[in-house]
Amino acid sequence: MTAMPAVKPLPQLKYKRVLLKISGEVLMGPREFGLDPDTVARVAQDVKDVVDMGMEVCIVVGAGNIFRGLSGASNGMDRTTADHMGMLGIVINALALQNALENIDVKTRVQSAIQMDQVCEPYIRRKAIRHMEKGRVVIFAAGTGNPYFTSDTGASLRASEMNCDLIAKGTKVNGIYTADPFKDPNAVKYDHLTYMDILTKDLKVMDATAISLARENKVPVMVFSIREKGNFAKVMRGEGEFTIVSDEI
Ligand code: UDP
Repeated sequence: MTAMPAVKPLPQLKYKRVLLKISGEVLMGPREFGLDPDTVARVAQDVKDVVDMGMEVCIVVGAGNIFRGLSGASNGMDRTTADHMGMLGIVINALALQNALENIDVKTRVQSAIQMDQVCEPYIRRKAIRHMEKGRVVIFAAGTGNPYFTSDTGASLRASEMNCDLIAKGTKVNGIYTADPFKDPNAVKYDHLTYMDILTKDLKVMDATAISLARENKVPVMVFSIREKGNFAKVMRGEGEFTIVSDEI
């Protein structure tokens, strides 16, 4: 009788369901404005790598590459109208990401907090969870759907609603530093911080509303660099560089 080949066990995943938050600026790549198709495609591949690891992934994207409500308001626009424009910018980015993911055979759904039935699904919590359980990547568009909020707060909100194990915030830098590492050569990276540290040290990671919501619902936040190809999968394996924000050491 021939022996059965040993079945290689799947690596134990630390996180089962993760929410990836990317700012609009990430999708801008080297450009000054808008979307850089190569960067969008590369981010999509990074997401696919994590989906292929067996993780459930949802995404919240911002719109700093297109329009921010605050800058509209500072130019004399009505703030609510400007924020509505910002949220529509988010929908543009969400559709670009969806398209790039589907180009590489990743099943996706866009769910918008502002209803636009001809374009995407409306946000329905139970449906979003079902999509993720089926291996689809859910892209949450239009932030919270309300003016005066940010897409980071949208990320904390959706991560709490989806019972995500983690908010993975992909940024330009590989973690949270004592000062801006692009400006201060003496800036030191933190490995771990509490939510309160972010608030009391006034670290520019996420706005206070977003951090408070993550804290209240005990969703850890990981800050890592999404600039390097393959880094999302790497940090999901617990390798590479990042900073974790949580109340547990
Ligand atoms: N926005 C909003 N409510 C939300 C999320 C976003 O009004 O719940 C608007 C707001 O005008 C914001 C813009 O959408 O400036 C883009 O979001 P954000 O600035 O957070 O994008 P990011 O910095 O992540 O690219």
